[in-house]
Amino acid sequence: MISNCTRLLFMGCLLIFIHQDSLGQGKKRDHDKNFHSKETVEKYRYKSVHQVKKINLPGIENRKAKNIILMIGDGMGTSQIHAGMIANKGELYLGQFPYAGFITTHSANELITDSAAGATAFATGEKTDNGMLGVNPDNEPLQTIMEIAEYKGLGTGLVVTSTVTHATPAAFAAHQFSRHYYEQIASDLIRNDIDVFIGGGRSHFTDRLDRLNLLEILKERNYTVVDTVIDLEAAHGDKIAGLLYYDNPPSILDGRGDMLLKATKKSIETLGRNDNGFMMMIESSQIDWGNHQNNILYQTEEMLDFDIIIGHVLEFAAMDGETLVIVTSDHETGGLAISGGNLKKGIVHGDYTTNGHTGVMVPVFAYGPSADLFTGIFDNTEIYDKMIEAFDWNGSKP
Ligand code: MG
Ligand code: ZN
Repeated sequence: MISNCTRLLFMGCLLIFIHQDSLGQGKKRDHDKNFHSKETVEKYRYKSVHQVKKINLPGIENRKAKNIILMIGDGMGTSQIHAGMIANKGELYLGQFPYAGFITTHSANELITDSAAGATAFATGEKTDNGMLGVNPDNEPLQTIMEIAEYKGLGTGLVVTSTVTHATPAAFAAHQFSRHYYEQIASDLIRNDIDVFIGGGRSHFTDRLDRLNLLEILKERNYTVVDTVIDLEAAHGDKIAGLLYYDNPPSILDGRGDMLLKATKKSIETLGRNDNGFMMMIESSQIDWGNHQNNILYQTEEMLDFDIIIGHVLEFAAMDGETLVIVTSDHETGGLAISGGNLKKGIVHGDYTTNGHTGVMVPVFAYGPSADLFTGIFDNTEIYDKMIEAFDWNGSKP
């Protein structure tokens, strides 16, 4: 056991070395130093602009969800969504959800949460301190909804545009004092038998202090291990480890292309074969990173990419009839305001108030069985409670 004292010392060192943004604390920036000149923003054409088709969304009578797809836009507040909407000339798939509400996002120890505490609230229904994953503030493990799903024989999946060991996905499958224990988080992903995980972070499985090669362990446990999008598309088998990048996946601006869409399709195809249903979390991780950089082009490209995936998932849920889709965010990033633009031309100007996260409430959207639970203003921990209710697991948790 590591003593609390050693932990404090360790965290102290981390705080010195880690850029403050990753812990969600930011300093105010000068208003006159926008990342992009007005001219750049006016000339830029978004790669991820897309046509929004009207999806026929049948009314859903059944209360019980067989499948839940939780979609998280990291750092996605209403301004981030609205910037995407303006860039897409007024329409997003998000606009087709029949139910919407807001969630408060504070963590156990801070008004302004980080992604680790935010995702722990979704995954476990409990608040924890910033930086902690799947544990309470006393570092005691909390059961996650993915673990309950595994126990009940459902398929489980994590699909992200960060490393698979990054805070948001990690909170669903790991129990760690710090979000920066990447190698331990990689081990936890395997220990928890998550059926499909796709993103970056291969380095945390191969170049480890303990010298284990987790890719070999994954293969022994019947995972199809792939490291390119092309191999992912061809993969069959009921368990897939898609470690598509050594570190982080690139941004859309840097050529990630439709990786998240292809990963989402493969995950739904794979987990959809489980007769007991599935629990899946899809994260657009880099909306947060674009806003940390106060880069309106970066954030808006990621937002538009996420909306394309949202449209695909919504289409699946409309056909399926037993899938609850929830789209929400862990917190807002950047204190973004829409300060101008042109709806007809798809031009958006943004002004930022911070490089860090903010404490403002963020939206939640839902469609499918029990989607009407996700209305009004409620706390981020209640996302978990409402998912448990939609699965009808109250009173039958292991
Ligand atoms: Mg994240
Ligand atoms: Zn962040």
